[in-house]
Formats: sequence, structure tokens, C-alpha cells
Amino acid sequence: MTREELLDKALHCNRCGTCRGVTQDVIPDVAFALQCPCGSTFFGEYEPSGLMYMARGLAMGNLKWNEDLAKVLYACTMCGYCDDFCQRGYRHTPAIEILEELRRDIPQKLKPKALQKATDSLNIPKGQKLTVLADFGIIDIAPGKKADTIFFPDNTLMLNAGKLREIGYIFQKSGKKIGCFMSDPLPPVNASLVFGGCDDALAACMAEIDDRLEDAAVKKVIVYNPESLSVLKRNSKSDVEFISITSFYAGLLKSKKAKKLKMPAVTYQDPCHLGRYAKDYAAPREVIKALGLELKDMWRSGNNSLCCGAGGGVLATNPALAKSYAEKRMHEASATGAKVMITACPYCLANLSGAKPRDFKIVDITTLVAQAYGFSGKEGGK
Ligand code: SF4
Ligand code: SF4
Repeated sequence: MTREELLDKALHCNRCGTCRGVTQDVIPDVAFALQCPCGSTFFGEYEPSGLMYMARGLAMGNLKWNEDLAKVLYACTMCGYCDDFCQRGYRHTPAIEILEELRRDIPQKLKPKALQKATDSLNIPKGQKLTVLADFGIIDIAPGKKADTIFFPDNTLMLNAGKLREIGYIFQKSGKKIGCFMSDPLPPVNASLVFGGCDDALAACMAEIDDRLEDAAVKKVIVYNPESLSVLKRNSKSDVEFISITSFYAGLLKSKKAKKLKMPAVTYQDPCHLGRYAKDYAAPREVIKALGLELKDMWRSGNNSLCCGAGGGVLATNPALAKSYAEKRMHEASATGAKVMITACPYCLANLSGAKPRDFKIVDITTLVAQAYGFSGKEGGK
């Protein structure tokens, strides 16, 4: 993006301030609450309009990158609330495009160390366990093999044999023919590349992914990590359909009944990359309902959901800040009266688990679906 293009986009923001928070009448003593994780913690330049004006200043040459500006930029979780909210009104500031551009533009030396190494997220972990899926009839897409539908794991999943067994088990129960690039995995893209401003690496990975999906005649990709889903959806040039594993579960539960789970009422954390980026608010709620669970949504949910605090690389670069964001969310979760929170994102799971009260459980939606179909934990070898 040129400086002129950045300025053109940033000029959409007139600091109206309406994206600062949400108004509501559900909670008697809360009429308005700040919604932006960094803005509601540090205020001023850390609020969305502050970041938009920072972009304006940088584009006009009135501001130069320095450590203070870097601190503001990397406190943002890229939750997308400001972008989404601004579109609901009469203006549209493309806040996410602007924030992504700032992450490209900032000098490498001002990036937090963890984001300077964002391309490490593409490394296929040594000893990756994807072949566990073969125990459940998932086909390895070796060169020359074709598959209509494949599964896309990210690298948080590749070493997690237990989670892979749950997923393999559910796929097997579905009776559908599903493949996966197991012995030679696809580049495990996720939003780290975007947060780290690694455009060239992302473009190269997407070109490889598109080519290999075309060679294997793939039509549908079931994606595990919502961050991978939003990156694939926004950057693939193929005609392939990318769906979240949660919407796969929702469809499956409609066609193939599972047993109802016996659990106290639950609440649900909308992951930003599943909800706000992929606009998938319904599927997880359909899954929760099909599992026979009572859902007590937090007062900020759906498109007004509050970020868990992990995104934007904040969990990797500033875990204490990510935890303080998560504590605010856990406060809202506790207020529902539920003692269990379900989520569909490994980063929400990790960050919220570090901030939860002792008597609270955070559970991955995959685990519950597997249990409902009878998964005991022993299936599929060790
Ligand atoms: S981003 Fe949009 S809603 Fe937020 S302050 Fe700017 S113009 Fe207002
Ligand atoms: S993307 Fe989220 S964290 Fe970043 S400025 Fe907007 S509302 Fe705040």
C-alpha cells in the first residue's frame, strides 16, 4: 500500500469515537462499556481512533516510527471490533487493513522479537503427529492423490496427538471421505504472518497452497484454527471453499445424531477470527444446542463479543498484557453463572485458561463433539 493509499483509508476516521464501546440494556448498572482491549486499558492513542490518527500522521510524514508508537501498535489484538463497528454506521474506516499496513510498514528493529520471527510459525514441527489421522481412515494426500475434501491443521495441532485423535474419530464417525497432506503438510499459515507484517512469506505460502490444492483437485477444506481460516479465506486465489471445523461439526450433528452431554450450563467465547473475521457466529451455538447444553451467553457476545486478548501476537509478545485482557473476559464469563466456557480456538483456550478462576473450566468444542459421538480417549492407538 502506498502512503497515499494509507492516508486515503485513514482519513475515513473522524474520531467520532463510537467504536470505543457498546451500549446495552441487559446489565442494569452498565449502560456503556469500552470494547477495544488496548483502548479500554490504556486509553488515548491506544483507542481505535488513536491508532487511525497515528496511521494518518505516519502517512503524512508528520510522525516517524519510534519505540513509543511501536508500543501502541503492538498492544492492539487485531480483534477487528473497530473495523466491524465502523461499518455498522455511516462511515467505514477499514481499520484492519490500516492496522495490517502499519505492521508491514514498521521497521523490523521496532518489532517485538517474537514477531521478528513470525515466519518460524511456518516450520513443520519435528516429529509431527499427523499420521495419527490415518488410524481413522483419513487419506494421506501424497503427490498424485486426489481428494474432494481435506483437513487443514495448523502447527499448534501437529504435535497434539490427543486432539488429532479426537478429530480423526469425528471424521470417521461422519462416514465422509476426508484427506489430509500428512507426510508432506501444507504450509501451516496462520495470522502470525499478518501480525508480523510478513507479506512476501504469506504470498509464497498461499501460492504453494493454491497449487497443491489444485493438483489434488480439492473442492473443500475443513480448517482447524480460526486464525488459519481467516488467512486462507482472505488470501487464497483458488475457488476452493474453506470452512471452519466448527461448521463441519454443526452440519454433522444435524445429519448424524450424537448423545446429549450431561453438563451444567456453559458459556461460549466467540474467537475473533471465527466470529468477526469469518462471520461464523451461528455454527458454534448450533453445536452447543445439538449437544444438549444450556448456553448462557456473556452480555457481550456475537458481533459485540470481547476479544480474549491473545490476538495480534499479544500473547506471544506480551503475555502479561494478554493475561490482563483475558481477566476482563473471565470476569464477564463468571457473571453468567456458568462454570464452563467453550471455545473453538486454541489461542482463546490457552489465554483464557491462564486467567480463569480455579473453579472454572475452559473446554475445546472438538473435545465435546468427540465425547458426544462416544470417544473414550483410547481409540486410534497411542
Ligand atoms: S474508526 Fe470509525 S467508528 Fe471508530 S472513531 Fe473512527 S470513524 Fe468513528
Ligand atoms: S482491532 Fe481491536 S484491539 Fe485493535 S484497535 Fe481495533 S478494537 Fe482495539
